[in-house]
Amino acid sequence: MSSDRLFRGPIDLHTHSRVSDGTESPAQLVRAAAEAGLGTVALTDHDSTAGWAEASTAAVGNGITLIPGMELSTRVEWSSVHMLAYLFDPNNAKLVAETARIREARLHRAEEMVARIGRDYDLEWDDVVAQTDPGSTVGRPHIADALVARGLVGTRSEAFEGILHWRAGYYQPHYAPDPLAAIELVVAAGGVPVMAHPATRSRTDVALEGRMRSYADAGLFGLEIDHRENTPEGRVRLRALAAKYGLALTGSSDYHGEGKPNRLGENTTAPEVVDALIARATGITPVYAG
Ligand code: AMP
Ligand code: FE
Ligand code: FE
Ligand code: ZN
Repeated sequence: MSSDRLFRGPIDLHTHSRVSDGTESPAQLVRAAAEAGLGTVALTDHDSTAGWAEASTAAVGNGITLIPGMELSTRVEWSSVHMLAYLFDPNNAKLVAETARIREARLHRAEEMVARIGRDYDLEWDDVVAQTDPGSTVGRPHIADALVARGLVGTRSEAFEGILHWRAGYYQPHYAPDPLAAIELVVAAGGVPVMAHPATRSRTDVALEGRMRSYADAGLFGLEIDHRENTPEGRVRLRALAAKYGLALTGSSDYHGEGKPNRLGENTTAPEVVDALIARATGITPVYAG
């Protein structure tokens, strides 16, 4: 497949639908991406591939190329680290089992957080269920939506800055694999791992930098450098790390529909980087439109 069919417009490699914590269905998201003038979009819901089929159909219908992907939850020490994964075999047994385990852990963790919040606020688990599509990956954003629906906060972001912040005392972590294990799983499934927004907080960044050689050796393909939450100083360090370990640099919006201010295409990835990413993958190929 020649790449000229792929590169008909800007490339955005990180978006979320209602299959996780975005606010649009996969089909609505793909349509919005085409309307925003993108030539290629990756769907990267948290810990789930459940949106791939619908997004693929919509991509063909809207004349846009789809790169099926996922944003895997991982953890280093006490910090959450996100690992983007592209073009892996969605039926790989180990990856399927691990993502199911993470989603299950997320569900129990959300129930426990809501039980704690419910002691101080008028919030019940059913409020969260009402905000979550059946089978989708549950996260704090759904609790945030429930808090908004109850009139306890004005917006998702307000919930994250207040009740859902770890400092508020209701926060609870959930099981997630180590980033190295996640990279190995993705590579074994024929996929291509890219570390998501790796420069947002200095303490975690330092922990990650010390481990970067092992990540690169295990098959990490790239670092998501152009992301609105990476700090300017962090981007300088990411550039140096990429040069040192031969990692690619990507950029993307991390679009969540109305759930976050991030807009489709606000950051993009160079076509030659996506070319190399596709060449690296052995799981599946992109869904080329037309
Ligand atoms: P969780 O993984 O359940 O702890 O929730 C974290 C997720 O919430 C991240 O993946 C973000 O997509 C989302 N998120 C974080 N901060 C905000 C915010 N201020 N507004 C909306 N969504 C957010
Ligand atoms: Fe998210
Ligand atoms: Fe993320
Ligand atoms: Zn994301």
